Amino acid sequence: MRMTTAAVAAATMKNNEGNNSNEGDEDHDDNSQRNRWRNEHPYRPDFGAKDVDAKADGAAETAAGGTERQPRTYRASCFCGRVTYLARGEPLDSKLCHCRGCQLLHGAPFEWVSIFDKSDVRFDDRSSLDYLYFYSSELDRGWDSDHAADRVLPCKVSCSHCRAPVADEGRNMWLAFATLFQFESVNRIPPAFRHACHLFYGQRCINIRDDRAKWVGHKNRSPKWDDDGPKGSS
Ligand SMILES: [Zn+2]
Ligand SMILES: [Zn+2]
Repeated sequence: MRMTTAAVAAATMKNNEGNNSNEGDEDHDDNSQRNRWRNEHPYRPDFGAKDVDAKADGAAETAAGGTERQPRTYRASCFCGRVTYLARGEPLDSKLCHCRGCQLLHGAPFEWVSIFDKSDVRFDDRSSLDYLYFYSSELDRGWDSDHAADRVLPCKVSCSHCRAPVADEGRNMWLAFATLFQFESVNRIPPAFRHACHLFYGQRCINIRDDRAKWVGHKNRSPKWDDDGPKGSS
């Protein structure tokens, strides 16, 4: 049954690639429900409506030094390259999270996120969608890309092939794991991607001195430290 479902979903995907409409097939009611997320932000092939159309991203990528007011776009790719997407404009905020959950889910000392509105993210390479895996840490439940229609937000998004974490998906926001963008060197990281603060610093496994605010837990809802600990702030 699993094979049959996957095969039907694959056939639908092929149809949808040539033509975004779901016309024609009796099985599409079921499939369109299951594949609904593919045509919603951030998984749509286009950015959300703003003053920029779908072509703007290409123009912005190639118009080095141009004076147009096209927002810059940033390309993210997982380790194996099967999952790739574009983010438009500068992130709204960037931070490091040192909570125990992030340590376990990333296999890393902390998580680095840069936050975008979902409408500023697009999956232009549609084959990436076939390699997405979604996981709710609250429910301890996962969905693969063929069975994603009823996934619960927020969830973790990862590559089902290389298992690299890709993003935290909230209801409106896309918390991009900034390590997936190709900045080439630390000196070329745009300012808006640099972390403005640390979250859950009380659970850290390394000490960091970087002159950024360090919240012991949630931002604005826990004591704030500076580089020297609790004495520096309220
Ligand atoms: Zn991958
Ligand atoms: Zn965390």
